[in-house]
Amino acid sequence: AKAAGKDRVAVFQAFMRSRLVEKMRLINCFPESMRRGEFFLEYQPQVALASGQLEGFEALVRWRHPTLGLIGPDRFIPLAEETRLIVPLGRWVLRTACFQAARWPAGDSQLSVSVNISGWQLQDEGFVDSVTEIIAASGLRPDRLVIEITESVLLTNPTLTATVLGELKALGIRVAIDDFGTGYSSLSQLRQLPVDVIKIDKSFIDPLVDPSSEGAAIVAMILRLGVDLKLATTAEGIEHQSQWDVLVGLGCSTAQGYLISVPLGAAATERFIAARLRV
Ligand code: C2E
Ligand code: CA
Ligand code: CA
Ligand code: CA
Repeated sequence: AKAAGKDRVAVFQAFMRSRLVEKMRLINCFPESMRRGEFFLEYQPQVALASGQLEGFEALVRWRHPTLGLIGPDRFIPLAEETRLIVPLGRWVLRTACFQAARWPAGDSQLSVSVNISGWQLQDEGFVDSVTEIIAASGLRPDRLVIEITESVLLTNPTLTATVLGELKALGIRVAIDDFGTGYSSLSQLRQLPVDVIKIDKSFIDPLVDPSSEGAAIVAMILRLGVDLKLATTAEGIEHQSQWDVLVGLGCSTAQGYLISVPLGAAATERFIAARLRV
């Protein structure tokens, strides 16, 4: 039994070492990868639940590594945050999303582009200046840009967050609280922050597959909060028609998920827009 325990320890240590090696490998090639243009964005459509009309897209970053292949953000964003490389990477994401969205075939419509912003970016002194510069250089109308901030970031540094969000608001940019419902923010905190959109986390949308589930009561409560605070509400991770039907009934405003579309590359995004808007 003792030998088996030792084996397990050895296996565990080897596992941790390989994880660490993988981490170091990823981190080391990060700056070089940015220079070589290995990062790219995909865009996932967001549509109005009542009408099905296209409202905009969320930008999601991907990494095409020359030998490791396609790496998803769940694997490299946490590393980028640990090493603060998220600040230059996030700036690149924002710049690229604004420039690409400014060139979308929009017709008379005004599609939004939502960009995920890490807490480290918000805390970076030059953040608001760089947003201002990117907006001006891209020519994107500021009210087309939505900054997504996770509820946990709101909670860790509420004072700074409120200040920065106020400055973004003054520029005409909209703000969404991402992964809402997972972070226990209080009603009073929400009321004090200049927020425009609540994004209900996928974990609350999953149970709606079964319309009789108690999960609907929680979502109904979040949606009521949205109405009370005059905020738009987006449901993320919708995969099934039954979830869509429940959400329409509950008055959720916007839908995002595989049921509508998976995230699309830049060219496919433009084709999606052209097909939807007939421009
Ligand atoms: P998120 O902000 O919650 O983004 C939604 C994630 O759910 C995306 O995963 C999207 O592809 C996935 N998704 C959308 N609809 C469905 C669905 O119907 N079913 C399922 N199973 N999944 C769905 P992705 O692209 O892998 O991104 C994961 C997370 O990485 C994001 O979660 C976000 O927190 C982070 N992330 C992605 N891009 C960026 C970025 O540019 N900056 C920062 N700071 N974080 C990013
Ligand atoms: Ca998001
Ligand atoms: Ca989210
Ligand atoms: Ca999420």
